[in-house]
Amino acid sequence: MSPKKVLVTGSSRGIGNSILEFFSNEEFIPIGTATSSNGVEIIKEKFSDNNIAGHAFELDLNDAESIENFFKTMKEKDLNPDILINNAGIARDNLMLRMSEQDWTEVLNVHLTGQFKLMKNFLRGMLKNKWGRVINISSAAAALGNKGQSNYVAAKAGIEAMSKTLAREVGSKNITVNCIAPGFIETDMLKDLDEAYLSAIASEIPLQRLGKTEEIASLVKFLASDEANYITGQTVHINGGLFM
Ligand code: NAP
Repeated sequence: MSPKKVLVTGSSRGIGNSILEFFSNEEFIPIGTATSSNGVEIIKEKFSDNNIAGHAFELDLNDAESIENFFKTMKEKDLNPDILINNAGIARDNLMLRMSEQDWTEVLNVHLTGQFKLMKNFLRGMLKNKWGRVINISSAAAALGNKGQSNYVAAKAGIEAMSKTLAREVGSKNITVNCIAPGFIETDMLKDLDEAYLSAIASEIPLQRLGKTEEIASLVKFLASDEANYITGQTVHINGGLFM
């Protein structure tokens, strides 16, 4: 069986980096993205250190031209992914009354419009192969409605709803579409939150700690595997019991 091509957006750091690592073996052709050439080098170095034949490209989901260039490169290199993992993300938090339109638009672009464009572009190859996996990284915030995150929550709830629609549209072609909704995971995304706040959050979580990036990556790997053939249109929560 030829190795499956796996695209993980935003894989220079955090959850995406752990997901990419899980697919960095001879069963797959891993493809990672970052917003800068520096991030691309980080991914490439990881591949070369582990002797992996992977690819890394620049992609800024808040920049329509960057998205078009990325599609062009992927086409030229014949890299239509069999497994698409929409992971890239940002937070631009503020109370709604203080939220700028720019922060609203940027978060919607990266999390919702960008993901729509990627799914639309890469779906054709999956339809042709009559096999595919789309896994979108959402957030527990979509269900909880976190204060100060109206942009982020709207985008995450949107991707969950859009994924259900796509799951219905492509199910007959053996393509599954699911979301994963993590709770608080130790990454740069939490670096602006103060320690006392994070300890208070951890004490409210039944498992009494924040999550690790590898714990999200193992769920992604399961949903991408044949063991998950009959799961589609779902949002799987992974949060140590924070949200039940
Ligand atoms: P992170 O550590 O901040 O990493 C974000 C990744 O996204 C980086 O690789 C970054 O690339 C990339 N990225 C940032 N802006 C981008 C843009 N405009 N276009 C394309 N890529 C961009 O974040 P994370 O915590 O791992 O989050 C990963 C996903 O999990 C996100 O969708 C996030 O919403 C979701 N999530 C996270 C948590 C959490 O607690 N951490 C909880 C729930 C859901 P550069 O390195 O080039 O900046």
